[in-house]
Amino acid sequence: VKAARSSGSILKPFLYALAMDDGLILPQTVIRDVPTYFGSYSPTNADQKFSGLVSAREALVRSLNVPAVRLLNAYGLYSFYRFLQDAGVSTLFRPPDDYGLPLILGGAEVNLWDLAQLFRGLGNYGVFSDLQVLERKDLKRKNSYFSSGKSLISPGACYLVLNILRELKRPGAEYYWQQYQNQWQIAWKTGTSYGQRDAWAVGVSPQWTIAVWVGNFDGEPNPEIKGASCAGPLLFDLFNLLPKDAAKSWFAEPSANLSPVKICLETGFRAGADCPHTTVVEAPMGMKPLKQCPYHKSVFVTSDERYQVCSLCWESGHRHKISLLFYPPDVAQYLRERGQVLASIPPHNPACPGLQAGNPMQIVYPGQNARLWIPRDIDGRFQQVTLRVAHRQPASTIFWYIDNRYLGETKENHVKALTIPAGWHTLEVVDRMGNRDRRRFFVALKKRS
Ligand SMILES: [Zn+2]
Ligand SMILES: [Zn+2]
Repeated sequence: VKAARSSGSILKPFLYALAMDDGLILPQTVIRDVPTYFGSYSPTNADQKFSGLVSAREALVRSLNVPAVRLLNAYGLYSFYRFLQDAGVSTLFRPPDDYGLPLILGGAEVNLWDLAQLFRGLGNYGVFSDLQVLERKDLKRKNSYFSSGKSLISPGACYLVLNILRELKRPGAEYYWQQYQNQWQIAWKTGTSYGQRDAWAVGVSPQWTIAVWVGNFDGEPNPEIKGASCAGPLLFDLFNLLPKDAAKSWFAEPSANLSPVKICLETGFRAGADCPHTTVVEAPMGMKPLKQCPYHKSVFVTSDERYQVCSLCWESGHRHKISLLFYPPDVAQYLRERGQVLASIPPHNPACPGLQAGNPMQIVYPGQNARLWIPRDIDGRFQQVTLRVAHRQPASTIFWYIDNRYLGETKENHVKALTIPAGWHTLEVVDRMGNRDRRRFFVALKKRS
């Protein structure tokens, strides 16, 4: 029970709950599921596929890796590590940097005991306390057990995550799920470690917390070992055997801990003035303000909606405002590569005097066909190259691509420093108006002198 084993995906629900309290997501909020690079680390999903954009709910139900790693990066590795320690995970033998972002995919070890304690805390509306082995003499006072715990996640966030974990769409486990769903509900999650050495399944209901581990005690891999198909059925067999109280078939909604928030229907972020469709959903009370929808932007267009216009080129009476969904460039590129047709963004009016003044955006460094000689630092590593772009409109956002790979975006201060391998490269920058600039340049690494 106390042997430490790789956690697989089993810790993901806690990150999603913490991220809700932190104002990063609600269940409806979309997360990018596209090829992503954190330095040299690039997570992939179990099926090696990406979905473009997925809601947090779907990402958790399908246990997608890329959204989970992105979320951990946004929430903070250190904060999540501290949560695990505070919640009683006793097997974090290494410092957070040693685990890095793969922590959320099974980089850390857990034991069955701590896992049961964690999920009990989720079912206990975020109050985490030590499990105790019940002896006969303790049974009389078992109601007092959870009174002295630490409140680490809000009741509202726990409730929303429990509701996600009870959803049915679990690849490979539908049969078992359907067999039980009508009788008794349970929030559950499975996990499979790297190399399929360990399979986990943990379930929590208002009355019971069950944690199952399947694996070889000697840690030998076994291709049959998978959380969903192997530990899952065992979990339900056990759950089915336990006595149940019909009055506690599902967690009570903590109404006092939920408050309504108006969100963008398409993206699940807090609705902004430019979001065309909105809906009101329950959010954890006291969560940090949810980020406003960054994807909907209003633009002025000609009456036929063929061109965007600005104060320099619109004719009064011949313009109106429309709201457009601007996908993040890495998502847009990914969806287009998959053959998806995206609503096109109308180009700017070609007769605009603003455009005739030339491109408002320019790559300052490097110059076209420049040869960059990269020296080494004192410690022997090659220095980074600092790429610079100028934009006439100070508040503009610029999207960066190097060799057709999305690098990221900059606002106001358009500078990016990165390590670039030797050889020819292409830098391309694009802004929201569709202006672009390109440079080809050559990188040569200086030999040790
Ligand atoms: Zn929106
Ligand atoms: Zn214009």
